[in-house]
Amino acid sequence: MKISVVVPMYNEEGIVQRFFERIEDTRKIFAERFAVERGDFEIIFVNDGSRDGTLEMLKKICRENIGYILLNLSRNHGHQTAITAGIDAAQGAAVAVIDGDLQDPPEFIADMYGKMLEGYDVVYAVRKKREGETFFKLFTAKLFYRTLKKLTNVAIPVDTGDFRIMSRRVVNVFCSLRERHRFIRGMVSWVGFPQTGLEYERHERFAGTTKYTLSRMLKFAADGITSFSAVPLKSASYMGIFTALGGFLYALYIIYLRLFTNIPIQGWSSIIVVVLILGGVQLLALGMIGEYLGRVHDETKFRPLYIAENFYDSEHPNGFIPTEYYYRNKL
Ligand code: UDP
Ligand code: MG
Repeated sequence: MKISVVVPMYNEEGIVQRFFERIEDTRKIFAERFAVERGDFEIIFVNDGSRDGTLEMLKKICRENIGYILLNLSRNHGHQTAITAGIDAAQGAAVAVIDGDLQDPPEFIADMYGKMLEGYDVVYAVRKKREGETFFKLFTAKLFYRTLKKLTNVAIPVDTGDFRIMSRRVVNVFCSLRERHRFIRGMVSWVGFPQTGLEYERHERFAGTTKYTLSRMLKFAADGITSFSAVPLKSASYMGIFTALGGFLYALYIIYLRLFTNIPIQGWSSIIVVVLILGGVQLLALGMIGEYLGRVHDETKFRPLYIAENFYDSEHPNGFIPTEYYYRNKL
């Protein structure tokens, strides 16, 4: 197998058919440009617990066309985990990841593959322009990627999603990273090897709406930061040093007032201010510890990353039957 394309799908019934057509076109481009035959190009759909007609449509595609695999997860596991499940199942020498909503043009995989052949292990797609997204999303995304860059030593590229292509050796290392709170774009950067970006225009969704609500976005951002930086944890020490220093200077000032002036020392309001500020800072620091501790807790449970209910392979020798598929935790 030369190429695998992993596509997470969650309630995308309005898009599946169009996606299929576009990825078939991409297959043709690969045949023409790189002489990659149909049998060397697999598409792995991951149905992430869709509650609409997505699963049936994906099954139909897999039944009627060769070169398709469908991994049906037992429930909604989230975008990052769905991608991971697909990458685990991929067999290609190069593995591409693309969103199923056609915001990322499938044909661009061929361009990224071409770049990869120049000697790169990872080619990620950099968003030059993003169409049809709210000002709020664009602004928060920009802010987030830049903050993360300041907080971590791992060179995570800015304005880059999970749309990318990776070599087998990168995928093998990636598959050995079994952390629960996954920030895939960062994990791939962490692996290293020659990586480069290629600019593209991100389009509007073909149909449907984004699955990333504000709360999911916040969780995703917190996963990114906690996975790649301990700076927030350390910041408690800095805040402590500054408040202690402030308190010490203030004490000197009080002693000075008492010894060298006749100004009476007044207390009540300054005490309240100090108590409130200190209380707030302490709770904030506790909350940050909680963010990390909760994630440590999740890791110690050692649960598998996801449960796949079944697996459909269009070329299965026994015909198109669902294979019982339970992915055991790799350790
Ligand atoms: N997705 C998924 N599981 C989820 C959420 C999203 O598999 O829990 C899929 C979704 O179907 C789409 C891709 O991940 O193919 C990206 O999701 P979305 O377009 O909602 O994210 P956005 O582009 O708005 O960041
Ligand atoms: Mg999208």
